[in-house]
Parts: sequence; structure tokens; C-alpha cells
Amino acid sequence: MDSLREQVRGPIFIDGDDGYDEARSVYNGMIDKRPAVVIGALDDADVIAGVRYAAESGLDLSIRGGGHSVPGFGTNDGGVVIDLRRMKGIRVDPEARTVRAQGGVTWGDLDHATHTFGMHAPGGIISTTGIAGLTLGGGIGYLTRRHGLSVDNLISADVVTAEGRLLHANDGENADLFWAIRGGGGNFGVVTHFEYRLHPVDMIYGGPMFFEVDSAPDVLGLYRDFIADAPEEFGGFFGWQIAPPLPFIPEDRHGDTFCIVVSCWTGPLDAAEDVLKPFRDVAPVVAEHVGPAPFPALNSAFDALLPAGLQHYWKANYALEITDEAIDVHLVFGPKVPTMQSTMHLYPINGACHRVASDATAFGHRDASFSPVIAGMWEDPADNEANAWVRGYAAALAPHSMEGGYVNFMAEDDQGRVAANYGANYDRLVEVKTKYDPDNLFHMNQNIAPASQ
Ligand SMILES: Cc1cc2nc3c(=O)[nH]c(=O)nc-3n(C[C@H](O)[C@H](O)[C@H](O)COP(=O)(O)OP(=O)(O)OC[C@H]3O[C@@H](n4cnc5c(N)ncnc54)[C@H](O)[C@@H]3O)c2cc1C
Repeated sequence: MDSLREQVRGPIFIDGDDGYDEARSVYNGMIDKRPAVVIGALDDADVIAGVRYAAESGLDLSIRGGGHSVPGFGTNDGGVVIDLRRMKGIRVDPEARTVRAQGGVTWGDLDHATHTFGMHAPGGIISTTGIAGLTLGGGIGYLTRRHGLSVDNLISADVVTAEGRLLHANDGENADLFWAIRGGGGNFGVVTHFEYRLHPVDMIYGGPMFFEVDSAPDVLGLYRDFIADAPEEFGGFFGWQIAPPLPFIPEDRHGDTFCIVVSCWTGPLDAAEDVLKPFRDVAPVVAEHVGPAPFPALNSAFDALLPAGLQHYWKANYALEITDEAIDVHLVFGPKVPTMQSTMHLYPINGACHRVASDATAFGHRDASFSPVIAGMWEDPADNEANAWVRGYAAALAPHSMEGGYVNFMAEDDQGRVAANYGANYDRLVEVKTKYDPDNLFHMNQNIAPASQ
């Protein structure tokens, strides 16, 4: 431990230290683990020292970007945690339309830095999520249909490998590693810098519309048909939502269950209402918060609903299409959404995402058109009702879904699904893993085991 302290500039926390409890905690309040040491890395050198220390000590190693992993992969019992949350550097190149960001940056940080220039990189829908974990698993959000997944916009990355070497990875250098980190998660090393392509996105038109549960068959049916060939400037999803106490929702409806369509139109603002008209026509809108807004405002609109420390249990399978039978399942489980924070969001991953060849990146299923997530989130650790709802909903949808799902939406008990999650790309991922991490140092993730294990 003394040699580690000599090599690392950032703070180091062991049990009993001031700050240890904060340092060991992650976003999912269900995870209560006590690592031997948490390294608050400040730079690449700290990360390299931490990786070497973990490899030499033989302890488990967790890498923490934003800390949002639902299975809590960013912490462990008795092992080493390299926490990148202090590594917040961001450099925008407005001329080249690129941004370089360190591994501890969140989408809120990145959106803030690039919005000044009227540009954004495609990320997720909550601003507190880390760019690191979200990108490495794929990256689904409002801009996916127009500009692709986060990985489709990754130009290069700096990766600290299991040997403690810093490699630059892009299409020309260490191209196999670059391929693997675009979807293969944190299996291949610690990514200390991400470089993204930026797109002109500034003011958008969008927000949530709330419909009665009785209207859900019509709204969900419309959404399924609409999204198949909607203009790619439309990003948005169908979901379920218990109404929070927000001013735009009639007070007597707070706490009632609704189905929602959350839209994000990045085309000309004056064309937006024409695009949204089918939703206005299909059923009465009970409440809405739809209009022009800076992109970061929409991208952080759900943050307050989901503070750190809630209990989380999530499940996910991709879907090629939403069949009538799948809609029936949604209509059974959706109205029973158990808590205000819990939901099912039906994210579209067609459009630009489908134009990338299925073997161009490690992301598993370019054939899928939807990436639903069934997200159980609740406050009271004693309350397991949401947990059962997630399992029941996922099991009922499984026959109408693909076998694999999005690794970033999965629980710890989904480890056995890793081959299905990557489909035809899995064998190549195992090859790259075997080359860069033969001893599986990076195993606190949806793990792709090297050939020897
Ligand atoms: C509230 C919430 C909203 C979400 N919304 C979306 C969404 O809109 N779209 C979407 O695609 N996903 C979404 N997700 C899922 C999200 O992509 C995953 O939880 C993701 O893993 C979080 O990344 P992180 O860096 O915050 O998490 P962490 O817990 O820090 O890390 C997650 C995984 O990535 C690894 N990792 C982290 N940083 C690095 C690094 N620098 N180098 C190598 N490996 C690393 C970790 O070891 C771990 O296995 C959401 C999750 C939550 C909890």
C-alpha cells in the first residue's frame, strides 16, 4: 500500500478513512460493498499505477466511470477500485467538430461543454450517467436514430491495458482493440480518454406527453408504426410513468399511472408540431411539457426523478419488431408499474444505427430495431415488489424478443447471456480479450472471458 501511495497523486481510501464510505458507494443504493482500496485517480499515471497494483496483488479490480452500473460493477468486496470521477478534462475542437473527454466525465459535463458551440455527441437520456460505461456498452439516446450510437461517433480512445501500458486506439492503431471497446464494455482495459465526433444540435423541440392508460393500445400501436420510418430527426421513446408532482400535470392526477411518449425533434423547429401531430390525434393528451428547449435541458429532464441511492434492478432483451403479442404483454405489465421511478422505456435503435455494418463495431445486434429496458427503481430497500415486476415483465416479453439484450441495461444475474448479447461478434471479442487481457483482470463487468477461462 505504501508503494501505491507513492505512485498515485489522487486520494486513496481504505476502510476507516474519512471519505471511505462516499468512495465505496455507487449510484445503485442496493450495492453495499467494501473494497480494500479505492484509488481516486487524477490522471493516466494514477490509472496505470492502480492497474499494476491490482494485477500484482491478485485482488479483484473495478473500474468506475460515472458509477451508474446497475449491477454495481464500479465497486467490490475486498478488491481495488480505480475511480475516474475526478478525471473531468474536456477539450472541444469546434473547427474539427470533435471533443476529447476524460473517463470520469458525465453526459451532463459533456453536453455543457459542447452545447456552447451548438454541437453534441450522441449519449444517453440522463445527464448524471458516465460517458465511459455508457459508451463502452454502445450508447443509446435521443440522437441514436439520426447520428448513431455513442460508439458510432467514437473516433479514438486511450486505453490502459492489463499490462499497465497506455495504448492509443483508433481505426489505424490497435484497430482490434478499438473495434472491441465499441460495444464490448470495460473488458479490455481502462479507457482514460474518449474522442467523439460532434453534430450540430442546439435547440430541439420535445418533451413528454402523458396519455391515459386506456389509450395505451392506440398510443403504443401508433408509436410502433410511426418509428419504423419516422424522419431520423425524431428521437424518442414510449414508456410508462406514474405522474410525479410536477406543475404541468394536473394536481389531482399526481400519482396516477400513464403511458408517455417522450420526443426529441432535432429538425427545423417549425416542422416539429406536424411531426408530432399523429400523437396528438391518436388520443387525448392529459398533460405535456413539449416545446422548444436547449438539448441539455431535455437530456437532464429526468435527473431529479432518479437521484443517486435508489434501489435498482433492470432487465433487457432486444426486439426485431414489436409484435401484437408483445404489445399485449406491455399492456398487461405497464399499467402495474410499481413505483414512480420504475418504468419500461422502449428505445428505438433503427435509422443511423442500422446503417453501420453489424461487424464494424462490437455492438451485438444491428438487426434489432428496439432496445427496451424494464427498469425497477424504488426508494425503500425493504420493498421487493418492483423487483418481482421487473422479472415478471421480462419473462413474459422474452418469447417476443431476441435472445440477447443491451449489456448496459442488464443485471448481475444476466452474466450467462453474454454470448447471446454479442451474437456473431462474440468469437472475435473472445480473441481480442485473450490478446489484451488473458488473465481476465477486467472481469467486473458483463464479462467476456478469455479463451483460457
Ligand atoms: C439512471 C440511468 C440512466 C441510464 N440511461 C441510459 C441511456 O439513456 N442510454 C444508455 O445507453 N444507457 C443508459 N444507462 C445505462 C448505462 O449505460 C450503464 O449503466 C453504464 O454502464 C453506466 O456507465 P457509468 O460510467 O456511469 O458506470 P460505471 O458503474 O462507472 O461503469 C459501468 C461499467 O463500465 C466499466 N467502466 C466504467 N468506466 C470505464 C472506463 N473508463 N474504462 C473501462 N471500463 C469502464 C465499469 O467497469 C463497469 O463495468 C442508464 C443507467 C442509469 C442508472
